[in-house]
Amino acid sequence: MSSILDVHRVKRELWQAWLDSKPGDPDAHEEGGFVLMDSTGILSVERWPRGLQASIGVPASPGGRRSGKLVIATFHTHPNTESPFKQEPTEDDVEAVRSDPDLRHRHFEGEFVISRERVFKIDTKGQVTVIGLTDQTLGSMRKE
Ligand SMILES: [Zn+2]
Repeated sequence: MSSILDVHRVKRELWQAWLDSKPGDPDAHEEGGFVLMDSTGILSVERWPRGLQASIGVPASPGGRRSGKLVIATFHTHPNTESPFKQEPTEDDVEAVRSDPDLRHRHFEGEFVISRERVFKIDTKGQVTVIGLTDQTLGSMRKE
């Protein structure tokens, strides 16, 4: 099954959100967004408004749509690298995905949570999986 992470351009957007969230910095704050698919199958990213140190507001996506496009994934960062902040998805993160009726359609891949070491995915059943190491999953060593 294909993944939004197979699309290099989308991966770069997630990596940019990670950098924008200033990981490990005094100004660290959550960033996130929607991954959208238009009627021709083209993917794009709509970033959410900048979050706070350990929370972020998610704009509404009635019927699983934003500006006429289907929400096929969501993502947010966990940029606080020191204890007591959690790297993995919190219970609230999981519940938000599990209980959102707008995300319950067959094209929705899950919510990706990006931390310093790992990228996680929450699915609509509330299952959390580790996708991989952040550097390897999102960061590209390739020259553009
Ligand atoms: Zn979170």
